[in-house]
Amino acid sequence: MAQLSDDCFAHGGRLMSRDEALALLAERVTRVTDDQPLPLPECLGHILSEDIISPIAVPRHDNSAVDGYAVFFDDLDPEHETRLPIAGRAAAGHPLKGPARRGQAIRIFTGALMPEGPDTVMMQEDCRLEGEQVIIQPGIKRGANRRLAGEDIAEGSTVLHAGRRLRPQDIGQAAAVGRTVLTVSKALRVALFSTGDELREPGSALDAGSIYDSNRFTLGALLRAAGCKVSDLGILRDERGKLESALAEAAETHDLIVTSGGISVGEEDHVKQAVEAHGRLHAWRLAIKPGRPIALGQVGGIPFVGLPGNPAAVVVTFLNIVRPLVLRLMGGSELSPHYFQVTAGFSHKKKKNRREWVRARLEPAGDGSWLAQKFPREGAGILSSLVESDGLIELPEDLTLLEPGRKVSFLPFSEVLS
Ligand code: AMP
Ligand code: MG
Repeated sequence: MAQLSDDCFAHGGRLMSRDEALALLAERVTRVTDDQPLPLPECLGHILSEDIISPIAVPRHDNSAVDGYAVFFDDLDPEHETRLPIAGRAAAGHPLKGPARRGQAIRIFTGALMPEGPDTVMMQEDCRLEGEQVIIQPGIKRGANRRLAGEDIAEGSTVLHAGRRLRPQDIGQAAAVGRTVLTVSKALRVALFSTGDELREPGSALDAGSIYDSNRFTLGALLRAAGCKVSDLGILRDERGKLESALAEAAETHDLIVTSGGISVGEEDHVKQAVEAHGRLHAWRLAIKPGRPIALGQVGGIPFVGLPGNPAAVVVTFLNIVRPLVLRLMGGSELSPHYFQVTAGFSHKKKKNRREWVRARLEPAGDGSWLAQKFPREGAGILSSLVESDGLIELPEDLTLLEPGRKVSFLPFSEVLS
């Protein structure tokens, strides 16, 4: 397994934009996982670690794109109907035996090998039958309705590149070139825990001042959706000794440690000291809202990410920093999700020089486009705002006042949570 350099998260402590943070990750973080062969049906969501090169042309041979009649174009009268005898039959998987002859039509079905000779296929809807003869309307082009060998995939071409996160159609593509097993990255083994003396397990009793731990469940689901294998290490008390031993132990059997809570400068926040006892920790002061600070470092040679405790900040920092990081650690090449342009249906003031994400719901604008509405309660601690949102609007650093009607970038949760 590859090792990261031990200062890969160092950065000098200055305030960083999201883009700088991503560039730094792209430059310093490399894949740490090993390869594994996996049967094709199990490959969905895994990151491919080989280029898939097709040993064959797809389709292998010319074939018909429709149900109809295979003919020689030069037999057709360009001005009038043409009448041809039907002299044979070719269906998918059942090619015509022998070549076809000039002056004859061959009954053919979609996917059937083109008989030797004919170059054009008439759609049956455009033909009339009289006994054993087919009557063809004028007006078709030479080569119509014929699929050419290799028009989908040329022999020797790369159909899927290493680093791709496999989608259902990618699995089908691998099957179409004959593969049964693919080499993919092993899932990143992530140790996950929450910190805070106020946290309780859902299902247990809540005493005064305590809350249920929700971040661990949000983060566990986010990490699994990104293709990780998650070990749930529970809630750790704000107690340095326990944190230290839990971190050291987790580092032995995982590729990444993710925590939430306990990283601000409050005196109850012991995560920083615990990490530093076994490695290095760098507070990344990100010019983003919600979300700063986040802590990146290493414990026992594996990367560590400490996220803020506030539930909405957890999701925003995960999507912007942790998700790209985990994909990178597994050799992923597509780190940034697609944003889409929508129209803002609200006004919003923001500070200059920081990037902000606003939780928003989409509603139809009436002209087929979408209007984004801000969720009214904006605090970084408000998880229900995420539940009721469709995604995040990203507001750039230089913007200070968003006015209704302006186009904004929108990240649908569906882009990143599946
Ligand atoms: P902290 O970063 O530890 O100062 O926590 C910031 C806020 O997030 C506090 O209100 C915490 O109670 C809350 N918080 C921290 N961890 C969690 C968690 N695992 N689930 C829900 N809320 C949390
Ligand atoms: Mg705390």
